[in-house]
Amino acid sequence: MKIRSLYSTNKLMLSFEVFPPARDGNIKELLTVVHQLARLKPDFISVTYGAGGSTQDMSLEIASKIKNNISLEVLAHLTCVQATKADIATILNSFKKRNINNVLALRGDPPTGEQVFKKTEGGFGYANELVEFIKANYNFSIGVAGYPEKHVEAPNLTTDIENLKRKVDAGADFIITQLFFNNDDFYRFRDMAQNKGIEIPIIPGIFPIFNYKQIAKIASLCGANIPNHLNDTLAGVSKDNEEVAKYGTEYAIRQSQDLLDNGIAGLHFYSMNKSRHVAKIVRELDLNREEKDEIKKRITGGAV
Ligand SMILES: Cc1cc2nc3c(=O)[nH]c(=O)nc-3n(C[C@H](O)[C@H](O)[C@H](O)COP(=O)(O)OP(=O)(O)OC[C@H]3O[C@@H](n4cnc5c(N)ncnc54)[C@H](O)[C@@H]3O)c2cc1C
Repeated sequence: MKIRSLYSTNKLMLSFEVFPPARDGNIKELLTVVHQLARLKPDFISVTYGAGGSTQDMSLEIASKIKNNISLEVLAHLTCVQATKADIATILNSFKKRNINNVLALRGDPPTGEQVFKKTEGGFGYANELVEFIKANYNFSIGVAGYPEKHVEAPNLTTDIENLKRKVDAGADFIITQLFFNNDDFYRFRDMAQNKGIEIPIIPGIFPIFNYKQIAKIASLCGANIPNHLNDTLAGVSKDNEEVAKYGTEYAIRQSQDLLDNGIAGLHFYSMNKSRHVAKIVRELDLNREEKDEIKKRITGGAV
């Protein structure tokens, strides 16, 4: 099933991201988590793609198992890092062979130890080129990344959205955002993107916090701002992971509910390979997957 067509229904979409365990990690353990996530009835699971051959092989194996053994729809991430067009084609052919219909087309970050992304000779310099290549040669539904607080390398949000539009014009079907903690950033980004003529679904990426040190590091790497009130609360309980998780989960519930009340097409959770926190969030939310039109009616007081 193509995610493109799932987003075109009236159902509210729910999805989770997982990543391959560290080198020599235990795929079995991850698949147990995916089985737990499956009970929440997600519309798809996305599987990240890292640098290095063995991690990439693991991504493919995990995506294939989720699709073919667990029978959940899969969104396989793919980056341009250290890959020629021929390498990319080989990977896309492997996706196709394994019945995977959806790709999140990314440029990727510079490899460890390097500061700047360098285009590989015979490869792609930006994600829009990858989208164009996939669109011209394959029949995948294509997602791309969006950044409510702008991508770290972009000089400003306006320029970054112009570059996002290139990915849309090249054939992207939907956008999944980087994590963010202030919904106003998401609404501003969505408004600006729509004003630029971007009409495809923009799906917010939600990160349920359960470890203070970890989120401080991740947020700083991807340029996401942790609002002072949230940071102060988390810092106050930083040594007690149960308390951090309790507050982080409550925050994600409030954040998601506000997004639901403001007409989103779906929620995408960064699960960090754990099911407990996202399960609590999904169960606590008023997430009966009601028709999107009903949500719109609630917002507009009846006028859809
Ligand atoms: C939902 C999501 C999932 C992710 N999954 C992974 C993953 O699985 N593996 C992984 O390694 N990383 C992943 N990332 C991180 C991502 O690879 C990095 O953020 C990377 O630095 C940018 O990738 P991109 O596809 O957004 O790049 P691009 O869209 O190419 O943008 C990169 C930068 O270049 C600028 N730009 C874009 N196009 C042009 C152009 N034509 N000309 C000039 N400037 C341009 C943009 O404004 C931006 O600053 C993910 C990010 C998100 C939001």
